Amino acid sequence: MIIFKHQSDLSKFLRKAHASNQSVGFVPTMGALHKGHVSLVRLSQTQVSLTIVSIFVNPLQFNDPKDYIKYPVNNENDIQILVWLDVDALFLPSQEEMYPQENMKHTCYELGFPDTILEGAFRPGHFQGVCRVMDRLLTIVHPDNLYLGQKDFQQVMVIKKLISILDIPVKTIAAPIVREANGLAMSSRNVRLSHEFKLKAPIIFDQLQFIKNNRFHKSFPDLRNSSVLKLQEEGFEVEYLALAKASDLTILDNFSTGEPMILLIAVFAGNIRLIDNLLL
Ligand code: AMP
Repeated sequence: MIIFKHQSDLSKFLRKAHASNQSVGFVPTMGALHKGHVSLVRLSQTQVSLTIVSIFVNPLQFNDPKDYIKYPVNNENDIQILVWLDVDALFLPSQEEMYPQENMKHTCYELGFPDTILEGAFRPGHFQGVCRVMDRLLTIVHPDNLYLGQKDFQQVMVIKKLISILDIPVKTIAAPIVREANGLAMSSRNVRLSHEFKLKAPIIFDQLQFIKNNRFHKSFPDLRNSSVLKLQEEGFEVEYLALAKASDLTILDNFSTGEPMILLIAVFAGNIRLIDNLLL
């Protein structure tokens, strides 16, 4: 695996790859890799000739500075995982490399509706930060395929919107959520959970399943109320537990028939924010 710290070197490498008609898959990450990231790499490796992974903890997408400072970083372990996976190249840029002075002029992306709800509403500026880094990464890598996780369902929607704004030819592939055996969605932030919350956290997915399984017997508001109560009893602070159309994230008051829906949740387990979702 070649490790690139400078975008100019990576660009040179990728120009050669494109010139020899090798297809490129790109897996952007913030590191502290887990099996969710591994699933994206493996999917890319089955579909393209070259798989590029990036690790960059993007300061612009953290609305909470404490969350940024405490974000787990484990480059040595990540590199071992990526070598073991036989990834072709890792892009490991510094902040200066990602955001040089001349690149600092502020671009405001017209993301529309998905930037105003749920993650967009509770994390002001988050998606603008995500788009800044993705704009830069996509311009450097020019991948044929971009691999994202459905764990960040709303983010996938926002990045698709960004791609349409930038008008770049890249295919987005969203891979299913990888979970611990107990149902907890894998996340780099899970390592920061207290022992107590680690034991309790599977209740988040349990409650999504409870709502899904009871959707033909009870209304969404009733199920939502009882789930929120259960989560609160276990010490979680629920930021949102919403039902939406899976196609465009229009928020729904109740279950409807004939269209794919999705449950989305964000909770605080102490000071660790966790998100999850479940398609209906
Ligand atoms: P992150 O490092 O958290 O920015 O995540 C990098 C990519 O991995 C994003 O596209 C995430 O949606 C995806 N990802 C994170 N956790 C999971 C998971 N449990 N299952 C599948 N994909 C995931």
